[in-house]
Amino acid sequence: MRIGGFIKQSLIDWEGKVTSVIFTKGCNFRCGYCHNPYLVLPELIRQTRDMEEVEILNFLSKRRHWLDGVVISGGEPTLQKDLPDFTRRIKEFGLPVKLDTNGSNPDILKQLIRDRSIDCIAMDIKSVLSPPCYQKVNYTTNASLLEKIKQSIQIIKHSGLEYQFRTTVIPQVQTPEEIENLKEQFADSCYIIQEFRDGDILDNHLLINTYHAGVSPQENDCHK
Ligand code: SF4
Repeated sequence: MRIGGFIKQSLIDWEGKVTSVIFTKGCNFRCGYCHNPYLVLPELIRQTRDMEEVEILNFLSKRRHWLDGVVISGGEPTLQKDLPDFTRRIKEFGLPVKLDTNGSNPDILKQLIRDRSIDCIAMDIKSVLSPPCYQKVNYTTNASLLEKIKQSIQIIKHSGLEYQFRTTVIPQVQTPEEIENLKEQFADSCYIIQEFRDGDILDNHLLINTYHAGVSPQENDCHK
């Protein structure tokens, strides 16, 4: 596992639970609002050393009686080839695991669910599920990636696990109509809307990049 960050104790990353949080390095998305550019951009990833997996596992083993679970976030954790083995080792400590994902790897999700390696999944829904809408938030979106995201949504809904879908609203990118569309589409699911927070983000020029992605702010209506 390539690990770029570790929080020993968090009260906010899994509702009602005291957790440790592991941040993996690398992501196949480029979301303008991303608050973890040092986990996403290769040139920044190279500037920080990887944390030792064994040190984190030792910590979790020692503290297992004081923790309610472990959150694996990123970056995009499903890009890590040894994620199934890593989650299995955490589960051997008797600790439940929550996975944060962008939904781009449905096959890995299926495997983790089948192997009972995870107990909860939180998936970002970046925008309305059409390429032009999604591309306004994640600049790497194409039709085949969106198909995988749709597959992941169905897998998670039918997993029998605790789950949450969530959308970060960026007023200058998604229109109110798009947000209403999402609320309707996910009305039968555990779905939350969260507000965009300013800060050290991947793209400080969201509007400019929206334009570069081929969708000008005036052409925001993309319910196609
Ligand atoms: S916000 Fe987007 S770019 Fe950042 S880690 Fe999540 S999926 Fe990757």
